[in-house]
Amino acid sequence: MSTQNPFSLAGKTALVAGASRGIGLAIGRETARAGARTILASRSLTALAGAARLLRAEGFQAEAIELDVANRESREKAAEALPPLDILINVAGINQRKKFANYTPAEYQRIMDTNLNGIFELTQLVGRGMVERGLGGKIVNIGSLMSVAGLPFVTVYAISKAGIAGLTRSLAAEWGRYNIQVNCIAPGFIVTDLNREMWQLPQMQAWLKGVQAMPRTGTPEEIAAVAVFLASPASNYVTGQVIQVDGGYTTTAVWPYEVPE
Ligand code: NAP
Repeated sequence: MSTQNPFSLAGKTALVAGASRGIGLAIGRETARAGARTILASRSLTALAGAARLLRAEGFQAEAIELDVANRESREKAAEALPPLDILINVAGINQRKKFANYTPAEYQRIMDTNLNGIFELTQLVGRGMVERGLGGKIVNIGSLMSVAGLPFVTVYAISKAGIAGLTRSLAAEWGRYNIQVNCIAPGFIVTDLNREMWQLPQMQAWLKGVQAMPRTGTPEEIAAVAVFLASPASNYVTGQVIQVDGGYTTTAVWPYEVPE
């Protein structure tokens, strides 16, 4: 039996694209703590450098690099500066809640360029290197509940996140021959800057208690743990999956009916 810890990322190099705060920052911290040389990337170089410094002070390997996934020049510049990667974790994402009829073409384009088009092209750039090295690899995409279900006022975001699920399944099928596993995490309701205001509304908290097995919002760390699993050898036979980490939202409901003891 192997004595290696299958959850260890020791000896691996990981890029976390969209790591300045929220879910991406939690993932970057956990990949570094699991042993990976972790490169934190986003548009906010100062925040990233601060996070990397703290991780190095804890004794882990972390660096920062500037990257705007929605900008081709920025993607290419970052890709040139990167070391060979074993793990790519695509987290960058934005949302704008509006009625379907009111989205402007510019708003549509901005969300799609960040959440889907930019991720597509970054994965091409970085994935090419993984294929050429021939050492296999791990690609973890952060999708959403909207990868598998619908809610009002987020149509453009939903289109982009459904696209991420499609990219995950199809690329997994194509790159299995290179021992590259491609998976997607579909987080449920995780409180971050993206939605903090909405989750402060009492009616939202009350609603959540009735709709899912775990009657609470989730934390970025609860997503990061699954990301480490999907970046590690522990998941070597898992590919093409959209894994819902959502307190049971997409699979459970609770009702007021009770039975006697
Ligand atoms: P957040 O706190 O707003 O963080 C978003 C991250 O994406 C930041 O690090 C941001 O960095 C980065 N980002 C945005 N645009 C970027 C760009 N053009 N280039 C590079 N990085 C960019 O939101 P979050 O909740 O952690 O969301 C992270 C991911 O999880 C997103 O893909 C989101 O759709 C997904 N998600 C979140 C939830 C939830 O409930 N929170 C649920 C499902 C899915 P900079 O601003 O520094 O560039």
